[in-house]
Amino acid sequence: MFFSSLLVPILKNYPSEAKIKSHKLMLRTGMIKQSSAGIYSWLPLGFKVMKKIENIVREEQNKIFAQEILMPTIQSSEIWKESGRYEDYGEEMLRITDRQKREMLYGPTNEELITDIFRSSIKSYKSLPQLLYHIQWKFRDELRPRFGIMRCREFYMKDAYSFDLDDDLGEHSYNKFFLSYLKTFKRLDLKAIPMAADTGPIGGNLSHEFIILAETGESKIYTDKNIFEVDHSDCTLEKKSLANLRKKFENYYAVTDEKFNKAEFEKLVTKENQIETKGIEVGHIFYFGDKYSKPMNASVDHNGKKIFVKMGSYGVGVSRLVGAIIEAKFNEKNEFMNWPINVAPYECAILPLFSKNDKTNLEKSINIFKKLKDRNIDAIIDDTEENFSSKMKKFNLIGAPYQILLGKKSDDEMLEFKKVGEESFKLKIDDIIKTINSKKEN
Ligand code: ATP
Ligand code: MG
Repeated sequence: MFFSSLLVPILKNYPSEAKIKSHKLMLRTGMIKQSSAGIYSWLPLGFKVMKKIENIVREEQNKIFAQEILMPTIQSSEIWKESGRYEDYGEEMLRITDRQKREMLYGPTNEELITDIFRSSIKSYKSLPQLLYHIQWKFRDELRPRFGIMRCREFYMKDAYSFDLDDDLGEHSYNKFFLSYLKTFKRLDLKAIPMAADTGPIGGNLSHEFIILAETGESKIYTDKNIFEVDHSDCTLEKKSLANLRKKFENYYAVTDEKFNKAEFEKLVTKENQIETKGIEVGHIFYFGDKYSKPMNASVDHNGKKIFVKMGSYGVGVSRLVGAIIEAKFNEKNEFMNWPINVAPYECAILPLFSKNDKTNLEKSINIFKKLKDRNIDAIIDDTEENFSSKMKKFNLIGAPYQILLGKKSDDEMLEFKKVGEESFKLKIDDIIKTINSKKEN
């Protein structure tokens, strides 16, 4: 409840080692602390934001009836030898030897482990489809970890896997995740474009990357600006509806540089609709049929016939999203962080001006805090003895979407209230509560 009691090590200036705004801001506001190259601790503020994002991701997975499980971070090399990826994965895989001299590894992804779970538990096609997901730390020994938590070595990912009887049903599962991703990113107030992508080491033939536009992104993207108009709000989980939605997106040219073809771009997209920019990959979905089920012998019985199940995998970079939202929303010129209220570290900051001799405003703050809390508003009181303007500056940086200011001549009835980045105005507490709660989802 009181800011002074929190572990939020705010820095006076931006640290010089950070190059992009999310990294700068996260270090300056004490959201994270680097522990070694590409490995970070998440301090209270950063952790809170990440947990709120994680929950939205989880809710949208549950809505397509994916089941949550939790697989370990440490895996045995055996299953990776079965799939043939133990050698292929190369130096990005962190390999570990235990005291029995067994070869283990810190999971960079979980296709093998989930296929092993599937083959030991599911025998009949009647148990299909199976959609399973977990939200767990991954480790990839990236060649050049950079940009803070955007490209790090240990990161938090939601990864899901689908198992179906044939390609047609497999594609239907793929499309469910396609919709679920659009919904997830919309709730995070991000404009994410699904783009046809190469499948890379995961393999397979159908794949989309979900990319949000940002100047600091690592992926170059080429698209038709009409793609932003495609609406998914009417789409249902019904097969046709989902297939149509994907088609609507695929009507428009949208690719990353791996698939870019200049002649094709110019032929398919009129000059005024061409967008050439950079983006951040926040999600990636793949359909790869029996690429893993065949070598790992994951099959079901279908009327006496043995069928290797058809699989897909679906990742969201939960920890990367914290940075991606900052990249998309931080106003560098006026230095304020515009968090979507659903994931803000605090929904409302109460900033009282007081002194050792006169703590009236601090007492008023406590009363206001209680009223906000009663109505489920996640608030914080800045009880530090800093001056008013540094308190405001601090909460602009941290980005509490709403702020209540208790200054020299604060009124009991009409409180000074503001939205981050905007001018303040007078409002009664009940109306403040209404304003904040109306912006929140139920
Ligand atoms: P990238 O091209 O950025 O390396 P990827 O294709 O290797 O990503 P996937 O294996 O599809 O990524 O992982 C799913 C998601 O996990 C990505 O869309 C991304 O948001 C996130 N992610 C991948 N690698 C990292 C990393 N090193 N640091 C943080 N997040 C990551
Ligand atoms: Mg990668």
